[in-house]
Amino acid sequence: HAPLPPLAALDVARLDWPRDDADSEAPHSSAFDDVYFSRHDGRAETEHVFINANRLPERFAAWQGPRPFVIGETGFGTGLNMLCAWAAFERHAPASARLHLVSTERFPMSRSDLERALTAWPEFHDKAACLSAQWPAPLAGVHRLHLGARVTLDLHFGDSAERLSQLDGQVDAWFLDGFAPSKNPDMWQPALFTAMARASRPGATFATFTCAGVVKRGLKAAGFAWRKMPGHGRKREMLAGEIDAPPHHDPRPNTPWFTPPSAKPARHVAVIGAGLAGTTVAQALARRGVDVTLIEREAPGAGGSGNRQGALYVKLAAETNAQSRMYLAGLLYSRRWLAMLDPERTLWNDCGVLQLATSEREAKRQALFLANHALPNDVVAGVDAEAASARAGVAIDSPGLDYAGAGWVRPDLLCARLAATPGITLHRGEVTELTPGARPTAPDEGWTISFKDGETLVADQVVIATAALANRFAQTAALPLQPIRGQVSAVRLPKGAELPRLSRVICAGGYVPPAIDDILSFGATFAPHDTDTALREADHAANLAELEASLPHFTAALREAGVDLTPEHFDGRVAIRAASPDKTPYAGPVPDAAQWREAYSTLAKDARRIPDTPGSHHPGLWISAAHGSRGLASAPLCAEVIASRLCDEPLPLERPLADHLHPGRRLISELIKGQTKD
Ligand code: SAM
Repeated sequence: HAPLPPLAALDVARLDWPRDDADSEAPHSSAFDDVYFSRHDGRAETEHVFINANRLPERFAAWQGPRPFVIGETGFGTGLNMLCAWAAFERHAPASARLHLVSTERFPMSRSDLERALTAWPEFHDKAACLSAQWPAPLAGVHRLHLGARVTLDLHFGDSAERLSQLDGQVDAWFLDGFAPSKNPDMWQPALFTAMARASRPGATFATFTCAGVVKRGLKAAGFAWRKMPGHGRKREMLAGEIDAPPHHDPRPNTPWFTPPSAKPARHVAVIGAGLAGTTVAQALARRGVDVTLIEREAPGAGGSGNRQGALYVKLAAETNAQSRMYLAGLLYSRRWLAMLDPERTLWNDCGVLQLATSEREAKRQALFLANHALPNDVVAGVDAEAASARAGVAIDSPGLDYAGAGWVRPDLLCARLAATPGITLHRGEVTELTPGARPTAPDEGWTISFKDGETLVADQVVIATAALANRFAQTAALPLQPIRGQVSAVRLPKGAELPRLSRVICAGGYVPPAIDDILSFGATFAPHDTDTALREADHAANLAELEASLPHFTAALREAGVDLTPEHFDGRVAIRAASPDKTPYAGPVPDAAQWREAYSTLAKDARRIPDTPGSHHPGLWISAAHGSRGLASAPLCAEVIASRLCDEPLPLERPLADHLHPGRRLISELIKGQTKD
């Protein structure tokens, strides 16, 4: 894969707001000296150039799915084109159809500029508000936004050609926008047209406002046929066309094992396990109109996801790596997704998370992290002890990293809420075996799920989401999982007392969120390979020691206020979490381990001899597991990865990050390690 872009803030758009003849303002780029749209007839131009020249009204009207219609765009700008496409979709498409928008942007606007620009279109007031409420920080990467039940927008922040070359998905119609080629020659390069061609469905159309020679030549060389059409208003001509046979291109020449299985439509999917991993997948599928049976041996959130309060945060590595990128994308996605699911914040709170550097070693690590990453301040910022104290609401002696948009979640309530999503049927039972074939007459289609009590159930596809038990099936036995015991402690606070109150979640060795309903939770212990679920007083004592070490003033003030901090009086909960050896979750199709070991056996002798055989997968079998203690940040995004793949939609992550989550990655590293042993 091409190297990942740095984990850094992008330059935001530099704008001015000249006034036109009618004395209305319109956004103008100072950097490119070009307009975003004409205030006078910008909407009419978008309808003419992008919507009608791609024949969207008739294509939307005829769209039968089940996958969504996909539009790709270069240069999101103010979003006017995409808002028009969304409105046209609502007007013309059948009620069951879905729309997926993919748009690149190298210089994202600030939220306030976006809002100011979109006031030009009062008819889009609600759509613009929905967009601006979810508008992401200017961070390179993919940001998935849900614009209502049927419309998804993936903002790929970064350069168009670079982003589209990493797009894991295919487009039906292109809006080739961007400032005029004469003003923005860097974008209109052959690499852009090649990336568009490779990400096109057969028959994909395109439309663009420009007729510049460089565009005509670039499109033609990449395989698009174009024709001139009358332009809008005073513009004489524009271009539109299509690509009937997009070039065959293997995006994974060096990692053929990650080639995904081709998507097969599924009407009914069984999800096994109703913790965070399972309930998020079930909800993501149900939202797409799939019938889901959610299988659980106890109750939603009975396992590792049943705690009262968990921290929504990530720990980013000092050096950029794929894991950190994935977790940061996950954290930002979880936050947008939670805000959509629960705008009243009864299940969660984005009060912010302070990650304290209570040791010299951690202080050095954080300093290195800050030196290596110029991230937007509202994503993560370095703070000294004084600023940390001000943000936390209690005295703190250490510096730290402040994640202003992170916070806490009630995973127990979240799992229950998700399991109650319309389209999901909860089925109690303990699955013992999965057998390919839903009917004896069709052994290659679907799955038969056998339960401990002898009952069976059939489904088109199956998602395994049973944490530490996820590799108990014959098909997943080759995926290593480590069980990790974690105990949290809880103290009931006296009512009415003058108590110190945290206004951020504080993380150091453990974590402590602000108390809810007069209960202060803190933890958690971390005991690999321990699967005992009985509460231990020694673990309460360890949690208390950790709390006192990171927040001594807070614990002293609690004692002063009469709070009983004696471990033998603590309540708590134990859960077994599961981790993979590299601490990245498994999210994707289940590899056929025997086939991989055979097909890639040459790697053991020479890791550079890469066979061109794609990896086989157990058809229609998926896994979301190994979320460790970071499931709040990883499970919702992993659920989108699986649901998007299963439903043949563009992925919410760039290809290298989606591959980083592939459950088969360990099989390959084991084969390669075999080489070092020889
Ligand atoms: N489609 C937009 C709308 O509906 O508001 C208008 C697009 S505006 C004319 C051009 C956009 O392309 C700007 O937002 C600009 O920042 C973006 N852009 C310029 N060069 C780019 C590049 N190399 N990659 C991605 N976006 C780029």
